[in-house]
Amino acid sequence: MEENTKEDQIFDLTGGLLCLDFANTMDDRADEHPQELLVSYGDLVAWSSQAQLLTEQEARQLLEKAEKHNSETNRVLKRAVEVREAIFRIFKAVAESESPEDEDLVRLSTLVAEAQEHARIVPGTHGFHWDWAGTGSELDCMLWPVVHSASDFLTSDELDTVRVCASDTCNWLFIDTSKNHSRRWCNMKSCGNREKARRFYSRKKSSESTVS
Ligand SMILES: [Zn+2]
Repeated sequence: MEENTKEDQIFDLTGGLLCLDFANTMDDRADEHPQELLVSYGDLVAWSSQAQLLTEQEARQLLEKAEKHNSETNRVLKRAVEVREAIFRIFKAVAESESPEDEDLVRLSTLVAEAQEHARIVPGTHGFHWDWAGTGSELDCMLWPVVHSASDFLTSDELDTVRVCASDTCNWLFIDTSKNHSRRWCNMKSCGNREKARRFYSRKKSSESTVS
């Protein structure tokens, strides 16, 4: 159990929505040295587990399958990163009141249509609900709910709540659910404080250079 708890905390899921958390699997995107968090297929599975898209057993099944299908696994990882970048560009544009690229919208639409082929209506405790057939057996199964989340949000009336972190380098996306719509940072503890410290020192530096 302890091992799982550790694994659960690898990623910072502060975006407030599945597709935004997925877009945030790249650190310091606007920096000279952005940090890719999805380096391996194992990272993709770890993120999906933490985002509760996979059960422990499904994650294990995928990792076992991945070992036997190296080239397909690499293709899925490459595709996951492409999907993530399209999602990032779309919602960053929206957050900055710009129009997303047609190419990205077409890409997302195609992926949603593909994902939909795996959607099934299943009986639950109270009535029926949508579920995904093939979770834990298809290597790209985690991408289905991700693109679904992106298309759902993009066509919702909540879209004006999407924001880009105000830090110069971060570029993480999040939903601003604050009462006065004033949230500026993805995470106050990391980006908010870092940005405040940076401004403080740059003010200090410029006042020192004025004095001398
Ligand atoms: Zn940030």
